Amino acid sequence: MRAIRKPRPEPGLEVCEVPEPTVGPTDVLIRVKHAGVCGTDLHIAEWDAWAQSRLHPPVVVGHEFAGEIVAVGDEVPAELKVGQLVTAEGHIVCGHCRQCRMGDGHICRNTRIIGVDRDGAFAEYLAMPSGNVMGLNGIPTTTGAIMDPLGNAFHTVLTGDAVSGGTVLVLGCGPIGCFAVGIARAAGAAKVIASDINPKRLELARRMGAHAALNATTEDVPARVAELTQGEGADLVCEMSGHPDAIRQAFASVRLGGRINLLGLPQGEVPLKLSNDLIFKGVTVYGVIGRRMFETWHQMQRFLSSGLLDPTPVVTHTFPLEAIHDALDAIRSGAAGKVILEIGS
Ligand SMILES: [Zn+2]
Ligand SMILES: [Zn+2]
Repeated sequence: MRAIRKPRPEPGLEVCEVPEPTVGPTDVLIRVKHAGVCGTDLHIAEWDAWAQSRLHPPVVVGHEFAGEIVAVGDEVPAELKVGQLVTAEGHIVCGHCRQCRMGDGHICRNTRIIGVDRDGAFAEYLAMPSGNVMGLNGIPTTTGAIMDPLGNAFHTVLTGDAVSGGTVLVLGCGPIGCFAVGIARAAGAAKVIASDINPKRLELARRMGAHAALNATTEDVPARVAELTQGEGADLVCEMSGHPDAIRQAFASVRLGGRINLLGLPQGEVPLKLSNDLIFKGVTVYGVIGRRMFETWHQMQRFLSSGLLDPTPVVTHTFPLEAIHDALDAIRSGAAGKVILEIGS
C-alpha cells in the first residue's frame, strides 16, 4: 500500500510502498479516506529535538484520520462492522496503570501514539485496537479526520464550568484555537475574545464566532480584555499558542477566581510571579493533554451530529497523499487553517 513514512533518523518524509498492516483478534482494519496534517507531523518531518528523542524510524506517520472499516478481528465487539465509517483516538493506552484504572487514560504512563510510536494513518490502511475506534454516525470523514485536534479544543474549553454565560479568552488562533472559539460559542459563552499575531488567523477566529479579535502585535491584550469585561477579566482563558508572552497575558487577563486551561507547549521555562499571578488571584490552572477517553469523544460527537458546531471553515487546504510536502509548506506558511490529506475515496 501507499504510505508516508519517516524512513531514517534524519530530516524528510517519503511517499513509498509498505506492506499492509496485519490485524490481531481485537483490531479493526480501516481503509483511510481523510487524514489531518498537524504541527506534530511538521516536527517529525523536520526532525527536531523532540522527534529525535521520541521516534524510532522507519515509521508510517500521521495520527488524525477517518475511514471505513474493511475487516474486524474475531474478538471485536459486534457494534463495529465492515463498511462502517469511523475515526479513532490515536493514543493507545495500557489500561493497567493507575491513571488508566482511575478513568484518566489521557495521562496513561504507557501511552503509545500512532504515527509517532507505531505506524500511523498517512497510509491506505491502518489497524487500530477496537477500543480506540469511534463510529462517525453521519459525521463526514473530512470532519472525522480532524476530531483529534478538535477533541483537544473540546478538552480545553469544556474542562471546568466557566463557559456557559461567561467570557472566554482564546490566546493563539491556529486550527485548535479557532476550533476553541467555535466550541465556546456553541457551549453558550456570552463573550469570546480571540488573540493572535497573524491577521489571517484572526479573520478565521472571527468566522468561527469571536466577538472580538485582538492583534497581539499592536494591542495590549490584558488591557483590551479588561475593557471588554468591565474591568473583571476573563472567566476562562484557553492558552493555545505556547508562546511565553501569551502565557503571561493569560495570567494577566484572567479574572480573580478564574480558570486557565493551558494547551500550547512552550519550548523553555516561562517566568511567572506565582504569588501575584496565580495564588493571590485564586486562579485554577489545568494542563490539557490529548482528549479524555472517551468523554471528550462523546461530547464532540453530540456537538457535531446535532449541528451545534460546524468546524469546517477552519479546514482551508486539502491535498492528495503524494503532495505531503505541499501540505507541510501550507502549515509552515502560517496562512493555513487545518490542512487535510485525501487518501482514499
Ligand atoms: Zn495532530
Ligand atoms: Zn495506562
